[in-house]
Amino acid sequence: DLVVVPEKTLPAIHFISNESSSGQLKRLEGKVAIVTGGAGGIGEAIVRLFVKHGAKIVIADIDDAAGTHLANSLSSSTIFLRCDVSSEMDIQNLINFTVSRYGQVDILVNNAGILGNQTKHKSIVDFDANEFDKIMGINVRGAALGMKHAAKVMVPRRSGCIISTASVAGVMGGLGPHAYAASKHAIVGLTKNAACELGSYGIRVNCVSPFGLATSMLINAWRGCDDQGEDEAEEEVEKVEKRVRSLANLKGVTLKTEDIAQAVLYLASDESKYVSGHNLVVDGGFTTSKNCID
Ligand code: NAD
Repeated sequence: DLVVVPEKTLPAIHFISNESSSGQLKRLEGKVAIVTGGAGGIGEAIVRLFVKHGAKIVIADIDDAAGTHLANSLSSSTIFLRCDVSSEMDIQNLINFTVSRYGQVDILVNNAGILGNQTKHKSIVDFDANEFDKIMGINVRGAALGMKHAAKVMVPRRSGCIISTASVAGVMGGLGPHAYAASKHAIVGLTKNAACELGSYGIRVNCVSPFGLATSMLINAWRGCDDQGEDEAEEEVEKVEKRVRSLANLKGVTLKTEDIAQAVLYLASDESKYVSGHNLVVDGGFTTSKNCID
């Protein structure tokens, strides 16, 4: 039988350190974080939440205008640096810049990613090999390069935390173009492998797998255009959210980019100090439900 514990018998929880003036616990106080693809969508939500929790941030993105605008609108400890994650030189520069500016890298969020055009490359018999390489180059090579160069500065300090954005398309088939699905499965594999190696140095490596979100990526893909950087007009967001809700397993709730940011915050903070090699799926039970077979 279930035993219901009366609320008043539960011990009170007191946070005694790292509290902001509003009384909220700052879970990343003093930490230095890099967020790739941080200029918009899920990355932007991660940046905003990390700033609230006291982190110093480098936003790394190819969208100069959005990245600069976001950095300027947040705390003075948030900087934008142009970085194409598929370029090893850019990644090396990103890590060097962060270390010279803030002295260390505590957290790397490998979030930059592209979906590719869904309608153009539906079948395995006619996918475009160049498009395939482009998607793998950003989604997988970009994350691997991030891990490589972050590990170089984290290993000597025997501490650090790497989180990558995978996808439900990296957990099961049938949820996106082949290259995208392959790239997201690869992120999960890369995460597990890197966690095995870097665990010896006290470095944790995890990933998150979001369900569908009405960001530029999905809006533009469902519109049938390649452009990743268009404005997210309110009616477009609502249209995509409606379609996502219709596919979702969990009803009555709409997944927001902030919900993914909360999962990333958990993996970045000391609350998850023994969690490594894990793929935190944030999909309202979609990938484990019978609904996803339809
Ligand atoms: P988005 O298009 O809103 O944001 C992606 C960001 O990455 C943009 O700011 C873009 O400028 C940047 N970017 C693209 N190519 C880059 C490159 N080469 N180097 C650096 N930055 C680059 O999309 P999003 O939905 O926020 O996607 C973020 C991550 O979440 C991606 O990895 C995506 O695959 C993943 N994801 C998204 C969804 C979804 O439904 N939106 C679901 C699961 C996983």
